[in-house]
Amino acid sequence: MNKKVMLGNEAIARGAWEAGCHVAAGYPGTPSTEILEYMAFNYREVKSQWSPNEKVALEVAAGASIAGARAFATMKHVGLNVAADPLFTFSYTGVNGGLVIINADDPGAWSSQNEQDNRHIARAAKLPMLDPSSPAEAGEFTRIAFDISEQFDRPVIVRITTRIAHSQGPVEIGERKEVPVREFVRDPKKYVMIPAHARPRHKFIEEQHLKLKEYSETSGLNRIEWGDKKRGIITNGVSYQYVKETCPHDSVLKIGMVWPLPDALIKEFASQVDELYIVEELDPFIEDYVKALGFKATGKDIIPICGELTPEIVDYALNGVKAAKSVPDYEGEIPGRPPGLCKGCPHAFVFGVLKKLDLVVNGDIGCYTLGVLPPYSAMHSQGCMGASIGMHLGFEKAHGEKMAANSVAVIGDSTFVHSGITALIDLVYNKGTGTVLILDNRVTAMTGQQDNPATGVTLMGEATHELDLELLCRAVGVNRVVVTDPRDVESFERIVKEEVAAREPSVIISKRKCILKR
Ligand code: SF4
Repeated sequence: MNKKVMLGNEAIARGAWEAGCHVAAGYPGTPSTEILEYMAFNYREVKSQWSPNEKVALEVAAGASIAGARAFATMKHVGLNVAADPLFTFSYTGVNGGLVIINADDPGAWSSQNEQDNRHIARAAKLPMLDPSSPAEAGEFTRIAFDISEQFDRPVIVRITTRIAHSQGPVEIGERKEVPVREFVRDPKKYVMIPAHARPRHKFIEEQHLKLKEYSETSGLNRIEWGDKKRGIITNGVSYQYVKETCPHDSVLKIGMVWPLPDALIKEFASQVDELYIVEELDPFIEDYVKALGFKATGKDIIPICGELTPEIVDYALNGVKAAKSVPDYEGEIPGRPPGLCKGCPHAFVFGVLKKLDLVVNGDIGCYTLGVLPPYSAMHSQGCMGASIGMHLGFEKAHGEKMAANSVAVIGDSTFVHSGITALIDLVYNKGTGTVLILDNRVTAMTGQQDNPATGVTLMGEATHELDLELLCRAVGVNRVVVTDPRDVESFERIVKEEVAAREPSVIISKRKCILKR
């Protein structure tokens, strides 16, 4: 095999391609975005697509799998929340062709609204989860995940974190294995989850779980690396690298398959070391499990539960070594540099007006979330993708039309398509009178300029139908829809004043291309 230096995300795309993957779908979200882009640009045999959101992406991948193709879906950790509904039920249907879900967690919340630890989702959905420790393993585990999926009739989650996704390392690359698309056999008892079918499938899942536990013990994905037995460390993901770097002589149980966990291996390891430590990022997922098996272990007492780990943190926690500062401590000498909108960003005109009018702004996820920061300081709530419009209606329900006349919802074009449309339907259906600003910058900008259904171009670079946002808003029952360029600030301000004063739902489509896209 040849080796090539690759990003973890590139290695995953390569691994899926080598495994003979036929269909790939996802929604952009840092730190997972590059996977599908790399796939679409380099491996044209795989039909790759951006879907409107993660739920649809998983449904497309699951459909392809059930039809007989090898398929995978990519998303960031909060995206898996959006896809949780199909995820939990496709756990019951199982697969035909292999189905792999790439989930990218973000310890440190470098580009996310939370630090949720999605190992819990694998456990809750009763799905096997692999947890690579390097770009090389990211590629290798992706290949293996397709085989596990078909062998055990289970979708398989490969969990990476930001540090794995965006680190580079040598990756073994091989040839593509051509895997024929399997025949689709009609089998409603397996693929139609009415209660009468779901109950026996639940039993099947529990049986498969026991077989997967056996696999977790013996496959080599989880392995003991014996060293000095005075101290034994159980670790996973990128933390494994930090442990090997800072505690090279200790014994290590490396967890590469984080669900189901290998009881016998854990017992064998824990019973032979004098002191047991667990080093893992975020929640005490392995630690709680090990303790439930009856072993004493030190974990979150000394390892932070919040944020990313670093070699320095691990070194200090396990060896008491205080890291020398790699850079001088300039704190207090130079001002911090918070993120900001690009110079000439179309959102800047919008937030200048919203600040001037002193409106309450229900915000959403995108570049425009930076409207919360100075110099605008003009965003007052924000939760998750697509939340702004529903929250805007909630504000009106709490305080009446007066609130609607003093507030707006702000949402980007891609986010509106992702999960804002149903909330706009709700606003109309439940007699809201609020104003929604769709900031249409003609691209999914924040994650790096991806196309979406409103841009008229697919991930594969083909021209396609361009979703007409104005027609869509009218179709769901909004009579007052204005399309305007926010750079004409005077006109934009007048329109905002008129629309918030109107006692019926209204949408302002603020249309101006992202300056980077221009
Ligand atoms: S990338 Fe585009 S939309 Fe985002 S801040 Fe920059 S100019 Fe604005």
